[in-house]
Amino acid sequence: MKRVAIIGGGISGLSAAFTLEEKRKSGAPVEYVVFESSPRLGGVLVTDHVDGCIIEAGPDSFLTEKPWAADLCRKIGLGAQLIGSNDVDRKTYIVVKNKLVVLPDGLMFMVPTKIMPTVFSSLFSVRTKLRMAAEWFHPPRKATEDETVAAMVQRHYGSEMVDLLADPLLSGVYGGEAAHLSVRAVLPRFAEMEAKYGSLGRAMLAARTKMAAVAKGPAKPLFSSLKDGMQQMIDALVARLDAKALKTSSSVQAVSRQHQNQSQNNGNGWAVQSGHESDHFDAVIIATPTPAAAAMLESADPSLARDLADINYGSSVTVSLGYDEKVRRSLPPGFGFLVPRSEGRRMLAATFVHNKFPHRAPENRAIVRCFLGGARDEQILQSSDAEILQIVRDELRGIISLTAEPLFARVYKWKSAMAQYSVGHLERLQRIESLRRKLPGLALAGNGYSGIGVPDCVRSGADAVGNVLAQIGI
Ligand SMILES: Cc1cc2nc3c(=O)[nH]c(=O)nc-3n(C[C@H](O)[C@H](O)[C@H](O)COP(=O)(O)OP(=O)(O)OC[C@H]3O[C@@H](n4cnc5c(N)ncnc54)[C@H](O)[C@@H]3O)c2cc1C
Repeated sequence: MKRVAIIGGGISGLSAAFTLEEKRKSGAPVEYVVFESSPRLGGVLVTDHVDGCIIEAGPDSFLTEKPWAADLCRKIGLGAQLIGSNDVDRKTYIVVKNKLVVLPDGLMFMVPTKIMPTVFSSLFSVRTKLRMAAEWFHPPRKATEDETVAAMVQRHYGSEMVDLLADPLLSGVYGGEAAHLSVRAVLPRFAEMEAKYGSLGRAMLAARTKMAAVAKGPAKPLFSSLKDGMQQMIDALVARLDAKALKTSSSVQAVSRQHQNQSQNNGNGWAVQSGHESDHFDAVIIATPTPAAAAMLESADPSLARDLADINYGSSVTVSLGYDEKVRRSLPPGFGFLVPRSEGRRMLAATFVHNKFPHRAPENRAIVRCFLGGARDEQILQSSDAEILQIVRDELRGIISLTAEPLFARVYKWKSAMAQYSVGHLERLQRIESLRRKLPGLALAGNGYSGIGVPDCVRSGADAVGNVLAQIGI
């Protein structure tokens, strides 16, 4: 029987554990142990139920376009629980001088693909509109080096686009800044489109026409989630795993290679050190944020540990506020708003949850979920919940004139939870991969590598299993 240690019980580690459980049930000679440092499994996937409302502390959904999370949900019996975002109400605003300005129709991520809505939008200055028109004629350009998202967007559309769209969109997804994040790692399609078409606008239009030609049936919702909240995924996964194999409140300090001559009885493999105990495994999947992985691997391979430690993480704070029916009627339609840095506020974005996922609030309730923190405001973690609440309420008053007392409020702090793929991330990944290959039986999973979203993390966990099983001959 081969033994695999999975370190980290977030969605990446649980996806790995479920993949191993499936193999075990189908007769593969393998068993696993999940080590999770906190008392609960699930990592940042946490759902609370308050006053009839479903409150997401971490992720509230995942991109439908990336199939791995929904596929996993179907495998664990949650197919009927999958819901889509309410895209008929999909409207996003940008805060400009304390007012909400709607994003014009036809913007794909930040690339305009429809002329008239963009021309008539009050969001952009005439100068930026002229840049957009000129962008249509950009010649193909194959970049020799990685660059920041800000540099690329600036080249195509100018600095206003960076401030109004690139930065707020990226802080929504990564908690990061356009001036630091790598185009190749974060928006690889943009780099490919620029190389092939030059103009991002023409490239997006071509992609949309192609997609429309092959698409069958009604358009899929942009986001998917689960009726009763994202934690359903964690609960269903945990219910399908071997309870004896799940070690919570078990932090791993180190993993080290064991060679034949050191452990005569166990053969080659890995020692996993957790507290005062050391256990032997044939393979190890580390599914923690990369700084934790770096600390564990320090003695096994200092170079690998250094590269892992160099991947930075940003922190995030979400605040969910519940309101009554009267407030619900007074709030704008749409999914919510993004706050550009030039507005000088601490809030990065807010979601009108009752519009985006109507299942999450009874009809007489509104939920406004606000995001703070990110790379530009780590200090927010030092503030108390009461101070954060005050900031959010002051800013909501300034932006959408929301003065009502909330029926409930919840503040969730996520320290160093969001990986920041900075310029050179892909080269760093290549180095990490070549060093990892020199350590047989080791695999890495999680949001620090090739995608921060829940679907990417699910895929990373499953891929890590394929990787280690091939290495230990199963
Ligand atoms: C506020 C917020 C909102 C988000 N919104 C979305 C969204 O809407 N859609 C989307 O797709 N993605 C979203 N994301 C991103 C996504 O949720 C995460 O990238 C993903 O869930 C990370 O999963 P993970 O298992 O890799 O890491 P984590 O969830 O961080 O889990 C890692 C686990 O490892 C454990 N651990 C750490 N060190 C050790 C150790 N030494 N020993 C044992 N265990 C250890 C930790 O306790 C933790 O439980 C959001 C993230 C945040 C924080």
